[in-house]
Amino acid sequence: TVYRFGGDAPHDDPRQRDKVVTGGKGANLAEMASIGLPVPPGFTITTEECVRYLQAGEAFRDELRAEVAEALAHVERAVGKKFGDAADPLLVSVRSGARVSMPGMMDTVLNLGLNDETVEGLAKVSEDERFAWDSYRRFIQMYSDVVLGLDHGLFEEALEIAKEDQGYYNDTEMSADDWRSLVREYKRIVREEQDEPFPQDVNDQLWGAIAAVFGSWDSERAKVYRRLNDIPADWGTAVNVQAMVFGNMGDTSATGVAFTRDPSTGDRSYYGEYLINAQGEDVVAGIRTPQYLTRAAREAAGAKPLSMEEALPQAYEELARVFDLLESHYRDMQDIEFTVERGKLWMLQTRTGKRTAKAALKMATDMVDEGLIDRAEAVRRIDPMALDQLLHPTLDPDAERDVMTTGLPASPGAAAGKIVLDADTAEQWANRGDKVILVRVETSPEDIHGMHAAQGILTARGGMTSHAAVVARGMGRPCVSGASGISIDRTERTLRIGSQELKEGDTITLDGANGQVMLGEVPTVEPELAGDFATLMEWADELRRMRVRTNAETPEDCRMARQFGAEGIGLCRTEHMFFDAGRIKAVRQMILAEDEAGRRKALDQLLPEQRADFTAIFEVMAGLPCTIRLLDPPLHEFLPTRDEDFADLSDATGLGVDHLRRRANELHEFNPMLGHRGCRLGITYPEIYEMQARAIFEAACAVEAESGDAPLPEIMIPLVATKKELSLLRALVDRVAEEVFGEKGTRIAYLVGTMIELPRAALLAGEIAEEGEFFSFGTNDLTQTTLGLSRDDAGRFLGTYVDKGIFPRDPFVSLDVDGVGQLVELAATRGRATRPEIKLGICGEHGGDPASIGFCENVGLDYVSASPYRVPIARLAAAQAAL
Ligand code: PEP
Ligand code: MG
Repeated sequence: TVYRFGGDAPHDDPRQRDKVVTGGKGANLAEMASIGLPVPPGFTITTEECVRYLQAGEAFRDELRAEVAEALAHVERAVGKKFGDAADPLLVSVRSGARVSMPGMMDTVLNLGLNDETVEGLAKVSEDERFAWDSYRRFIQMYSDVVLGLDHGLFEEALEIAKEDQGYYNDTEMSADDWRSLVREYKRIVREEQDEPFPQDVNDQLWGAIAAVFGSWDSERAKVYRRLNDIPADWGTAVNVQAMVFGNMGDTSATGVAFTRDPSTGDRSYYGEYLINAQGEDVVAGIRTPQYLTRAAREAAGAKPLSMEEALPQAYEELARVFDLLESHYRDMQDIEFTVERGKLWMLQTRTGKRTAKAALKMATDMVDEGLIDRAEAVRRIDPMALDQLLHPTLDPDAERDVMTTGLPASPGAAAGKIVLDADTAEQWANRGDKVILVRVETSPEDIHGMHAAQGILTARGGMTSHAAVVARGMGRPCVSGASGISIDRTERTLRIGSQELKEGDTITLDGANGQVMLGEVPTVEPELAGDFATLMEWADELRRMRVRTNAETPEDCRMARQFGAEGIGLCRTEHMFFDAGRIKAVRQMILAEDEAGRRKALDQLLPEQRADFTAIFEVMAGLPCTIRLLDPPLHEFLPTRDEDFADLSDATGLGVDHLRRRANELHEFNPMLGHRGCRLGITYPEIYEMQARAIFEAACAVEAESGDAPLPEIMIPLVATKKELSLLRALVDRVAEEVFGEKGTRIAYLVGTMIELPRAALLAGEIAEEGEFFSFGTNDLTQTTLGLSRDDAGRFLGTYVDKGIFPRDPFVSLDVDGVGQLVELAATRGRATRPEIKLGICGEHGGDPASIGFCENVGLDYVSASPYRVPIARLAAAQAAL
């Protein structure tokens, strides 16, 4: 339950280096200690213990207390100090560490073990009274905030007042005595706020912090983060307790964060920030502006304060050595926290660094060139969903830019939207369809939902490794941080950017590539799909087995999908053509007609339009397979509701408004999704499918005649439940095909198949395959009908279901492999038993979801089909699935 690291601790238990058991931070601390890097000694309490603690109603087991006491003794021995010793106290940090890093959780308490007595001891042994009292006040402040849950603003305010009273500007001007009186004030605040004094017993402090870390796993912020990132509720977090080393022991001490390569561009240069005479939180919190790590970076930025390379050359050299060691050990870019205590370097953390998609591609292809990894590993490393960042437009380099101010280019990409000043507003406005830019002084984990809802993030404070920057890069949101030319007035809801006065709701544009903040909306250009992206996609294509098609129904979407590498259409939803404003009248006329003759009259108007639609699509998709689905949605969805629509229709048909309203009432359905839709339309009104089939074949013949490069139409019948439905409609399609081929004096190849989107169709797939030449799994409807969950309404409560762990993810987003997956697998097996060459694909939304694509590979589908922007994601995910 408790693993020790550093000092003389053994590190050979594989469980200790397993993130699942000890969390990312704990596993890597053990790993670093085992390869001989300087890691302050400490111990890790496992994630399993967290789960146990929460299940037990937040109670610690006696065994845990005993093991922690033993582990603490190990740290005491290794450091040669005792926890709570008034003469020479051991101080520790307590930090959370889940399997993956989670900004939603309690992060860190530093300097734990200080109280009114030990602070005196620390002052003596360090021979630095100021340092000791500064550490103590930091500890009270942090502990009160993250463990006791008191408002940190109260403490900041007290500090501001203390400085004002003394006429100071910087914290550095505070003397030992000033800190001592501030500690008194801090303790007073604590007593007043919680009716209990600040805990003086160091063991109470330790267990309080451990409880807070465990408890933070179930905090609201953590839950939001888990939901956004598909992290299961039952992982839990580990706790790391580690001997303190001090970056705030004067000018030969420092603290910093660094990446072994540039996480924004992927360039092979050390990248990071540090602060002399400071503690870790100072760098990330964005309170002091950090300094550059390397001389080159400082010079490039034209900054004055010395880089670490210049100010602490020996520690820097040691750090560079550690960087190289870490990269060759982990064979990936590392994100590091370090502290220099009186000239000696200590490693506090390493983890695989988060990076932008662009950087991920560059690093992966570079590392293949460097011989560090092979192509398959490079393909494996790219998160398919992250590619999304690259596929979207960037700012037009030739467009006018009204630049108001410039900050740090913290996360690349272009974003335009309305200014919002807090996370809740961001979410509200985004929900009603606005594009927003979240503007904050600095961000904290409480802002995560707003950052997610925003197109981009702008902060006044904070460096490239600030919370805003790290989270934005992870989410793929453009971010400009540390734009000091911004001042925000929260009460008036206004802000000043450079010399401009703006208010919430005004539009601005961010360029995350260079840090510019512009007034208004700046035009964008399409993304560049060459370079590292193209190289990696080529490798992915070599490695994948499944084909990738697209769901598209306009020539523009088809063109875009082909640029993204689509190898055909997997689903063309013809109803989208019916909703077109110019045609909806004819469609309604058809639906409301009393008889076949009336319907045919309206369909005659639609035929040339549909033919033109298909011709345009087939021209773009020349030579490729195109699955075209005949009309599917409930007729209900096309019915008019507004008075003026009835009036229009009455004019067009010569039928009275009352008559039309009566027909509409007759057609009203209580449960349209299970009603008159799909192939049931073709069975009851065969003339509709006849018209569509005719339009498809005439268009295909026309394209063939013109270019000699007809596509392969695959005519797809939706919502089939029985073999008989398919055989009737198949006969209809074949008959129309023969008619058209006869008229045109030519033939083209085509297939007729069906969607599998009802459980009965999956179960009876063996017999349905006698009539169908292909199956496409319509997993949207199949999920709806298998789970008895309405696609249109379930969103209201599915969030709760995911939070409570009933579903690991929304089953409409990621396939319910256990349930719906069984039906897919069974239908595939039975379909193949009847017709071994049957083509199998998926065209539900799941076709663009990497986890579901993995499942499709396992059941051996021939292709997946995804919306155009998801095509590259699907190509990569299909390759990863095949590895
Ligand atoms: C499906 O049901 O999965 C499908 C692709 O069809 P639609 O979403 O149009 O119902
Ligand atoms: Mg469907």
